Amino acid sequence: MKKKIKFLNSIKGWMSIELTNSCNYRCSYCYRKFVDKMPEQFISIKIVNELVKDLENNSFSFDGLKLNWLGESMLHPQFYEILRILFKSKVFEHYSQETNFYLYDNRLFTVNPDDRPYYIFISLDTLEDDLFFIKRGSNTLGKVLDNIHLILNTRKKLNRNYPKIRLQFIVMEDNFQELCFIRDKVHSIFGIKDISFYEDIKAEHDYILFRPLVTREENYKNIKLFRQLKEKYGIKEKKIDENIRLACEKLFSTPFIRADGTLIFCSNDPEMSLSLGNIKNTSFSKLWLGEFMEKLRTLHINREWEKLPEKCRKCHDYWDSIPEEILKEYLNIL
Ligand code: SF4
Repeated sequence: MKKKIKFLNSIKGWMSIELTNSCNYRCSYCYRKFVDKMPEQFISIKIVNELVKDLENNSFSFDGLKLNWLGESMLHPQFYEILRILFKSKVFEHYSQETNFYLYDNRLFTVNPDDRPYYIFISLDTLEDDLFFIKRGSNTLGKVLDNIHLILNTRKKLNRNYPKIRLQFIVMEDNFQELCFIRDKVHSIFGIKDISFYEDIKAEHDYILFRPLVTREENYKNIKLFRQLKEKYGIKEKKIDENIRLACEKLFSTPFIRADGTLIFCSNDPEMSLSLGNIKNTSFSKLWLGEFMEKLRTLHINREWEKLPEKCRKCHDYWDSIPEEILKEYLNIL
């Protein structure tokens, strides 16, 4: 078991903990409500405490922890208490959070006295009030912008490095023209001018992040719009490497703990068809290194695609950047 954990630690994965699958916004493009079968709920402090204890006792380490998944984590009534527990642990080196930022208050600086690396992705999509209301289902843009000013000013006043801010805009038909000029506007309001078209979590500067719209249907039109925006900003598309398919690294590096304690491993699985069990009943370490998971890992490494569950078999969104010879080492320690 120790050797397996040492190997998995070397992959430098990111765990996700979903504090809640509930949300205070009703974004027009969100597919959560159509695929999430779990009743809306908040994770309990008991689950978080026991998870951290299990990770520490078994010497797990992760490059980072994401503090959300399908819901808005700041809705959790004990959000700052949970953050305090997680910041105290040395299991995670970095922390990130995706949020609509409506409920932000400055307690964040109090619960992170050691200024541990924290990166906040704030979903905006537009700086126009009317469009914000149409797209996000909420009339709160002004409050969100005030909160962004508050966090940036406090960071400066306290002379802290963190949190670093990413202002996120999903590229859609309705906001396309606005996004072509959004960099100047954001720069004049917040002094942030760097842009990125991919999620560079640990970048040590604030930046504007453009993302393609992801839907459960045909995505071609959205990807095309995203590429057009890239061209407007003078960024050339990288040529896609047509390598043969290799094992998906999500099985090694991205455990997701849902608000009810269910453990899954894939960001494409809100339906939880690849559930490993619930950490309320069996510890994370037992499930993550359990028979079912190791069987899936072995099938992936051996490229036995036809024996995989349907979700992996038919998948086109796998991450396969870990070299095969490294993953083969894992088979030797099973
Ligand atoms: S192959 Fe696809 S479905 Fe399977 S874990 Fe990877 S991304 Fe998820």
